[in-house]
Amino acid sequence: MRTPSKESDLWQVIGILRRFAELGDEEARRAIYGAFDRNVTGDNVNDADELIALDGIGGFLHAFTMLGDKQPDLQEWWQFDSWIEGLEERDGEAEAWAALQEAARLNATLAAWLAVREHHRANLKEKWANHRQSTPCMRFGEIALLVAESAALEWRENRGKLRSAGRWAKPATVKRAAAALAEETDGGRLNRWVQFFTTTPFPGDPNKLLERTYDEGEYVRFDAALALSRVSHPDVRVRALGLADEQGREVECVRLLESNFRAGDEALLNRLLDRLVSEDDRHWAVMSIRRIQEQENISDDLLIRAYEITPCSICRGGIVDGLIEESRLPAWIHEECEWDAYHSTREAVLELKARADRRID
Ligand SMILES: [Zn+2]
Repeated sequence: MRTPSKESDLWQVIGILRRFAELGDEEARRAIYGAFDRNVTGDNVNDADELIALDGIGGFLHAFTMLGDKQPDLQEWWQFDSWIEGLEERDGEAEAWAALQEAARLNATLAAWLAVREHHRANLKEKWANHRQSTPCMRFGEIALLVAESAALEWRENRGKLRSAGRWAKPATVKRAAAALAEETDGGRLNRWVQFFTTTPFPGDPNKLLERTYDEGEYVRFDAALALSRVSHPDVRVRALGLADEQGREVECVRLLESNFRAGDEALLNRLLDRLVSEDDRHWAVMSIRRIQEQENISDDLLIRAYEITPCSICRGGIVDGLIEESRLPAWIHEECEWDAYHSTREAVLELKARADRRID
C-alpha cells in the first residue's frame, strides 16, 4: 500500500485488506480509509464500494463526504446509485433504507441526492420500457447503409453500432450480411462487415475473414480474430496453428482456437501463455481460455496457469467457479481463494466448504 504499484494490483490489495478489516484488524481498516482519502487508485468512486461493504452506512457516509456540498449531478448520479446498491446488498433493502433516511434527516445534501436518484430511476424505467418496444434489431438495408457510411471513417467510429447490429440481428439478416461480406470488394466496407460478425457467428466459408488476418492494419487483424473466434472450421484451426509460430500473434492464435479447440491443445496454449508479457495480452488470452472452458473439458494444468497469470479478479473468479462446478478445484487453490481479493471468489469457496461440512455432519 505504501509503495503504489499498478492500479489493478492496488484494487486487489484493498480487497484483501478488507478481508482483514472484516476480521477486526483495525490497522487494515485505517489503511483502507486512508487509501480512500488519498485516492490512491485514482478511482474514489469504485473504492467506495469497499468502504460500504466493510462498514455499511458508516462507510457510505464517509464516501459521501467526498461529494462535499456538491448538489446532485446527473453525471454522477449512477455512481451514487451503485453505492446505494452496495448498501442494499450488504444489509438488505429495508435496513439500508432505514439507515439512509435516518442519515438524510440530518444531511440536506444527502436528502437532495436521494430525491434526484428516485426521480431519475423512474425516468429510466419509462425510457427502458419504450426502448424495448422499439426493437434494437436493424434491418439489412439499414446495416448495409451503415457499412457504406462507415467505410472511410476511423476504425472506432460506428464500430459499436455495427457490433450491436450483429448481436441483435435476426437469422435472415445474418444470412444476407454473410452474402454481402462474401461479395464485398471494397476493403473499407469489408472491414465493417467483419465488425458486424464480431458479435454473431459468420456462417459459411471463412476464407475472406482469414485473409484479413494477414492484413497490415493491426485493427483489421484484431476484428478478424474476434470474428473468427466464433467460427468453427478446419481452415480456422490451420491458421491458428500457423499463428502460433509467429511472435506477437499469441492472442490472435488463442482467439482462433476458441471455437476450434481439440483435446491436447493445452500444451500449445500453455506455451503461448508463457510468451505473453503485457497484462492486457494476458487478460485477453485468459478471457478466450475461459470461453473454451465453458464449452470444452480443459485439463487442470492450463486452467491453473490461466488462474495464476490473469491480472483480473473477475476472470480468476470465473475459472474458480468453473473448477468448482466440475468438482475439481485443487485443495491449494481452495485454500488460497479463502483469501482472494475478490469477495465473490471468497464466498464461492466458503460456500463449498460449508457444503462439505454439512455432508460430514
Ligand atoms: Zn477479466
